[in-house]
Amino acid sequence: MLLVDSHCHLDSLDFVALHQNVDDVLAKAKARDVGYVLAVATTLPGYQAMTQLIGTRDDVAFSCGVHPLNLEEGYDYAELRRLAAAEQVVALGETGLDYFYQKDNIPLQQESFRQHIRIGRELNKPVIIHTRDARIDTLAILREENAQECGGVLHCFTEDLATAKTLLDLGLYISFSGIVTFRNAEQLREVARYVPLDRILVETDSPYLAPVPHRGKENQPAYVRDVAEYLAVLKGVSLETLAETTTANFLRLFHLKLSSFA
Ligand SMILES: [Zn+2]
Ligand SMILES: [Zn+2]
Repeated sequence: MLLVDSHCHLDSLDFVALHQNVDDVLAKAKARDVGYVLAVATTLPGYQAMTQLIGTRDDVAFSCGVHPLNLEEGYDYAELRRLAAAEQVVALGETGLDYFYQKDNIPLQQESFRQHIRIGRELNKPVIIHTRDARIDTLAILREENAQECGGVLHCFTEDLATAKTLLDLGLYISFSGIVTFRNAEQLREVARYVPLDRILVETDSPYLAPVPHRGKENQPAYVRDVAEYLAVLKGVSLETLAETTTANFLRLFHLKLSSFA
């Protein structure tokens, strides 16, 4: 069985008290059948530092992008394009809109989001989308920029069923995090029951949002297994089927082939 953590901030884990180094994190993940990780960038300097920390490995892929809450005065879109063109980069992002934490730079958030999609289409790499309190604008931009051409995933999904349906109509994937295991997440579980298995990804969004039974602790890629176990029950399939399907979805979306995945 091979599970994938489709979204984690591998460079932001606690390497002082909890883990010795990246090898240690990946070994803990492998011990729970989590054999592959997508390390997601949130700034361009952060992307460069993250790739140096992690190095070239056959069990880690990278995204390159600027999170909507990290835009400050803006950044150089040509530099994003140049960095994202590297072979080790499988996706643009995370990008998107966050009006929950920041409303004073909406035009800049929207322009940055559009640029990620345009570069994704140019490079034929999917986008990793973050959205919070910005559902209508997120869907409008995905449509206007023809995001279905490069594909993408709405990560850490917490929106409603209607939004999920629109994303599925656009050909996009939906990624569930530990939030789906939270006691008060019944509306989200309703969405998870609805989304077809062949459009679901699983993620941790480590170091944030540890799933039950690890709530309150720092999250890590190994815990994507808890998300997967929970979703398997919800979907009425075995853990093996859930793992096989979500891993195949991941490989299809990000144009990856794993030698360890037959
Ligand atoms: Zn996010
Ligand atoms: Zn994230």
